[in-house]
Amino acid sequence: MRVAVLGTGTMGAGMARSLLRAGLDVTVWNRHAAKAQALAADGATVADSPAAAATGADVLLTMLFDEAAVAEVAAPALAALPNGSIWMQSATVGPAGAHRLAAIADADAVTFVDAPVVGTKKPADEGTLVALVSGPPDAVERLQPVLAAIGSKTINAGSAVGQASGLKLACNAWVASLTAATAQSLALSRALGVDPRLFLASIEGGASDSPYAQLKGGMMLGNDFTPSFAVDGLVKDLGLMQQAAAATGMPGHLLDALQQAFTVAADSGHADDDIAAVATSFMPLFTEGG
Ligand code: NAP
Repeated sequence: MRVAVLGTGTMGAGMARSLLRAGLDVTVWNRHAAKAQALAADGATVADSPAAAATGADVLLTMLFDEAAVAEVAAPALAALPNGSIWMQSATVGPAGAHRLAAIADADAVTFVDAPVVGTKKPADEGTLVALVSGPPDAVERLQPVLAAIGSKTINAGSAVGQASGLKLACNAWVASLTAATAQSLALSRALGVDPRLFLASIEGGASDSPYAQLKGGMMLGNDFTPSFAVDGLVKDLGLMQQAAAATGMPGHLLDALQQAFTVAADSGHADDDIAAVATSFMPLFTEGG
């Protein structure tokens, strides 16, 4: 199976390497070419344009920042795909975005599978992402070699485009809530004159504990904001959640508060840092404030 991967950033690079480890024939393209060229040592063919990458591919995999980038990059690639190929769209674009992208695929007679992923850089590197898929069942079946290579599990969200992207927004709302809530409890402990490490120790092993709270809380306490999932990406995703809530009539008050917390962090210089940097919107850095 030949797979063209468009976008070899944090996630796309790991996914491409996982495909290569599984023995698939992988061609990569990235806007800043150095990130694609880095994959040549792993066995990838490096293309100099999206159309060149797509030529002869059975599967087109897009892992770009947002819907606008995906639409721009995919247009020439779709035209170059052979008949019968599948577009596996894995960037987080929300259900409405997935529908708009599927319409572009329809115009080029390419089968679209809505396939966002759960998991950050490490699972992408290790091939242990959770793939969320929705689309025509036969196309999802044909994607099995790709899904098995990039992930440890596939959740089939239904046969309609947009269902997987909807589930992805629900998952990222959870991630945003957990991360901001961890920062809030650390900040509250500190504001009340208690060692914030005691908050993590207090929940550890109990019903309200979460490995994610311990992981991100530890990063917050250590001022380690090495990006696995960058703040600007989550601000983008929270915007998609707010739009989806508005479109469906679901109250968006918690989403609004989360958007405010992460936007404050982005605007104060942490846009490219890990989402653990949301801590900076609640309190000074630990090294600064003790
Ligand atoms: P990233 O490291 O910032 O990479 C973004 C990619 O998009 C890069 O390849 C970048 O190219 C490309 N890009 C951005 N704007 C472009 C444009 N206008 N034209 C062409 N290429 C453009 O992001 P990431 O973390 O890999 O995330 C990729 C997607 O996966 C996003 O939709 C994100 O929401 C989603 N996601 C991320 C995570 C995570 O934990 N990081 C987890 C699940 C899903 P350059 O390198 O040239 O800038």
